[in-house]
Amino acid sequence: MTDLAFPALAPTTLPIAGSTSRFPVARVFCIGRNYRWAPDEAPPRDMPAWFMKPASAVWPAEGALPYPADTADFCHEIELVVAIGRGGSDIAPADVEAQYVWGYAAGLDLTRRDLQQQAKRAGGPWEPAKAFDHSAPCTPIVPVANCGHPQEAAIWLSVNGVERQRADVSGLLWPVAELVAMLSRSVALAPGDLIYTGTPAGVGPLAPGDVVSAGVAGIGELTMTVANTHPG
Ligand code: MN
Repeated sequence: MTDLAFPALAPTTLPIAGSTSRFPVARVFCIGRNYRWAPDEAPPRDMPAWFMKPASAVWPAEGALPYPADTADFCHEIELVVAIGRGGSDIAPADVEAQYVWGYAAGLDLTRRDLQQQAKRAGGPWEPAKAFDHSAPCTPIVPVANCGHPQEAAIWLSVNGVERQRADVSGLLWPVAELVAMLSRSVALAPGDLIYTGTPAGVGPLAPGDVVSAGVAGIGELTMTVANTHPG
């Protein structure tokens, strides 16, 4: 048995819809622009930008949503989340859904937008903007056996009852099969990886006290209240 100098962190896990088992989270990949935000936007030819969050940023999407430190522009992005169940690299698009996708969820790619704009200007890394604590709340993982592979499903987000984001996952510029295949050509995927597939138009700021409701139809819904954890 390995003699660890101190106890290793417990793995991050998410509930599985309709089960007492839990989904062990390996890593979190987030895809940049992957919906048309403007009607005349040109279709993509290359892999969209991608970045990562630590598994420790993932947590069940319910209750209070902590307003993070170091920002005055804390923004919501609702996304369809793909849960990978089998690892691989150079995966063929035709094999992705049947062999590699374990399930789906709805998640928020929470963003410190002011830090992201600074990073873009400076050519610096995105981690301060994206990889902070509690930055990736996620609904329970729905096994493919229960939800299939959503080709058409509404994706939306509202704040205090006012709709901010609404689209359909059929609008993904790179659909799940192509997206996972492309990512697997860049890095070997592992069981437990989550892929946040990008957010539709309408991203915007959150303030303490805001009630966020969001989801992907047939996959998962969340309601959370932004907590004022950093007064002043
Ligand atoms: Mn995003």
